[in-house]
Amino acid sequence: MTHIINSSEHGTEVLRSMSDSVYKGTYCACEGFASIDAIQLDRACGKARAMVGTVHRKLAEMSGDVAIGLKHHFKLDVTAARGVGRVYQEKQIDAILSVFTKMDSDFKAGMTYVAGSLGAVGTTASMNPRVIKIHPPFFTLSPLDQATGLIHEHAHFASRLPGALNTISDRGWPFFKAYHELNPEVYRGLTTDKALKNADCYAYFARELAEPGSYTWIGD
Ligand SMILES: [Zn+2]
Repeated sequence: MTHIINSSEHGTEVLRSMSDSVYKGTYCACEGFASIDAIQLDRACGKARAMVGTVHRKLAEMSGDVAIGLKHHFKLDVTAARGVGRVYQEKQIDAILSVFTKMDSDFKAGMTYVAGSLGAVGTTASMNPRVIKIHPPFFTLSPLDQATGLIHEHAHFASRLPGALNTISDRGWPFFKAYHELNPEVYRGLTTDKALKNADCYAYFARELAEPGSYTWIGD
């Protein structure tokens, strides 16, 4: 087995026990994973990339169920906006589109995922992230949940800024993170401004638009 000896968390050099610890998949590079996991992760990356591509296209065209998704996940009602409210709303929709544009280009540039050992699905450093870390629970999820989890991490990653905190975090951290599944009440209660900065809102907006048959809104 191969493993990463030293975490890159604090900018220290990543040392590998063996040269074969990097798996080059079709969609991404996977560092430090067992090959069976790396293959799964590469597939999930392909799925997440396709979902983000679908959302990007639908959002740019404002087609399909975009209006419903915007209402559910970002509290934006495109039918109700008037006057200056409409101008603000267009800026907010542009901001969402720009996150999906960035995610799309990150996927196309080729991501690197690094094996971690936490109890979370994935983690992304809140400052200057260079990679996304994927942890053991990820491999217990369904392919769709894996792709959704990746989009969540990619939303953090896409909001990176040089020398500053990522603009997209997990709202309500550390006590009541606005997670769609674990904290639906908090999730539903987010204002538009908070939703725009909450990673799960991008992940589940993507899930509703790209995989409508598998998604049920958690509210009325
Ligand atoms: Zn997160």
